Amino acid sequence: MVISGKKSGSDQTNRRRASSKPDRSPRHGSAEPATAAIDQVETALQAELHPGLYLVATPIGNLADLTLRALAVLRGVDRIICEDTRVSGKLMARYGITTPLDVYHDHNAEKVRPAILASIHRGARVALISDAGTQLISDPGFKLVLAEIDEQLPVTAVPGPSAAIAALILSGLPPDAFLFAGFLPPRQAARQRALERWAAVEATLIFHESTQRLAESLADMVERLGNRTAAVARELTKLHEEVRRGKLVELAGYYQASGHARGEAVVLVGPPELVQPDWAEVDKMLRGALVRFSVRDAAAKLATETGLSRGELYRRALSIQQEKS
Ligand code: SAM
Repeated sequence: MVISGKKSGSDQTNRRRASSKPDRSPRHGSAEPATAAIDQVETALQAELHPGLYLVATPIGNLADLTLRALAVLRGVDRIICEDTRVSGKLMARYGITTPLDVYHDHNAEKVRPAILASIHRGARVALISDAGTQLISDPGFKLVLAEIDEQLPVTAVPGPSAAIAALILSGLPPDAFLFAGFLPPRQAARQRALERWAAVEATLIFHESTQRLAESLADMVERLGNRTAAVARELTKLHEEVRRGKLVELAGYYQASGHARGEAVVLVGPPELVQPDWAEVDKMLRGALVRFSVRDAAAKLATETGLSRGELYRRALSIQQEKS
């Protein structure tokens, strides 16, 4: 199992970086031009703020991961709607954002949504944020965006952090095709059914998972997906960021033995490995081909027909030929 994380006990930690003042040392030149440029960007962005809904991504741990545009929009809109004012209040305080906060979550969404839409019809600029990361991704907002689209109201994204994507790029698993499957069901039977649904997908699978259930979920993955290559990305962008990579059996064993892990985690599972060919059947086909073709041509013909490695087929064809002579 391979583990990577941040250097600990040094000024490499995210906590220090998040709360540190801008570096004004000569090494980085004077900070004034940079500050002025940031102010200019903010003023220009705020002048462009039209009525509509702004989906603003927020940090997933390290408060420094807020984009300039996110900051300008959050400062410039008329209202920010969030999941929990206590959580978002910390971000607001960190950046001196004084825009009023309203709450929008699964329990009040049906009641609050019409009022949000009505205010945008009247010309309001409203930002939607979640506790952390990108809205709608295992977070509220989908029905609000649908309603905006239905009512032909403007909606735009101010993209930024998302745990699933940060985990994917750190996982060492193929990023070219991936499937984000959200949270797995907490109950085992439903979880196993969900995993079966994804078992044949030829892509890296990405799951949000509670750190309290890591061991159980990883064990179910071994059972339903096979012992694939996988990774657990925990506490991303935070002080104790850690990525454990290995086979599912190893990871399940580790979290079983170590007890409940802390914080938040994303589990990633590599695509199914290519099924091992039936070599007896392949050799039979090679013998048939060798009746009419040379070793090289027989290997090339079968490589095209089966997708197997031409080199491996050549070696097998050669040894079959040598057995015959
Ligand atoms: N919308 C968010 C996003 O785009 O990242 C995800 C919200 S979802 C309610 C919360 C889950 O995201 C956590 O249970 C965990 O699976 C994952 N997560 C959020 N922050 C994380 C972090 N810093 N490190 C690892 N996983 C994280």
